[in-house]
Amino acid sequence: MINYKTCPLCNSEKIGSWIQTNDFFLSREPFTLFICSDCGLVFTQDHPDEGSSGRYYESNDYISHNEKAKGFISSVYRLARKFMLRSKRKMITRLTGLRRGDLLDIGSGTGHFLFEMQRKGWKVKGIEINESARAFSVNTHNLEVISPQNIVSLPDSSFDCITLWHVLEHFHYPKAFFSEIQRLLKSTGKCVIALPNCSSFDSDHYKKFWAALDVPRHIWHFSPASFNIFARNSGFQIKAIRRLPLDVFYISILSEKYRGSEFYLIKGIIKGSWFFFKSIWNIKKSSSLVYILNKLPESH
Ligand SMILES: [Zn+2]
Repeated sequence: MINYKTCPLCNSEKIGSWIQTNDFFLSREPFTLFICSDCGLVFTQDHPDEGSSGRYYESNDYISHNEKAKGFISSVYRLARKFMLRSKRKMITRLTGLRRGDLLDIGSGTGHFLFEMQRKGWKVKGIEINESARAFSVNTHNLEVISPQNIVSLPDSSFDCITLWHVLEHFHYPKAFFSEIQRLLKSTGKCVIALPNCSSFDSDHYKKFWAALDVPRHIWHFSPASFNIFARNSGFQIKAIRRLPLDVFYISILSEKYRGSEFYLIKGIIKGSWFFFKSIWNIKKSSSLVYILNKLPESH
C-alpha cells in the first residue's frame, strides 16, 4: 500500500479525507480519497503498489468477447466505438492542423484508435502494458506496439502528436512518464490527454458511486484546476479543452448500476442527457475532458 503524508502534486501537508468509496467494479474493497486543500488534487490514499495492483484489473477475456460477441448490446457497443474513433480522429486532425504525421498512443489497448489513424495515412506507434492487448494489436491490425519500459528506446523529438485516452489516471509514476513525453514530442507537437473530471456535474451528483472514481485502478482524480498545475510542473501548457460526447452516458449508466438503481439503463441515459446539456454551456463541468497541451516555450 502506498500512503501519502504530503500532497503528491504540490507537497503540501494540508491533505485530508474527501470521500469514502468502494471498488464497485471488482473487489468491493473500501478505499479513501484524499484532497489537498492547497492545490485541490484528489488522489486515492493507500492504493496498492505497482507490483500488487494486477489483481484489480480484469482478465483479458474482454478482448475476444468484445470482438466476437453477437446481440444487441454488443452491436450498440461496436457502433458507439466506431463513432468515438471517428470523433477522436477528427479531433486530432483539427488540433494538430495535420492531415497526417507521426503519432504515439500511450495505453493503446487493442489498437483500434491507432488502426483508425493508420488507415488515414498517419504513421503510428503504440505503448501498451497488457501483453494480450499488444499481441491483438500486432496480429489483428499489424501495428507496432511496445511495452512501457521500452519507451526509452524511442528517439527524441519524433512525434507530432502523443495521445493518452483515459490512461494517465492509472499511472503509478505520472511525472516520470511526462518527462519521456516531453522528450519524444517535437517542439511544435501536441499532447492530447483524456481524463475523467472529478469536478463534473455527474461527479457532484453520484459522489461515492460516481463510476469514474474506479478505485483503486484510478489513482489520480483530476479537475481542470489541478490538472493545469500538473501540466505546468511537467513543462506543458493547456492550449485547449474539449470533451468526448459519449462518456457522460456510459458513466451515468454505470453509476446508477453501482448505486443499485432499478432501471439503471434508462435512468443513466436520462440523467446523462441532463448532465450533457448543462455542460454545453460549462465545458469544465463535463464528465470527462480532453486537454490539448503544448510544450512550454522554455522547454523546447
Ligand atoms: Zn497539493
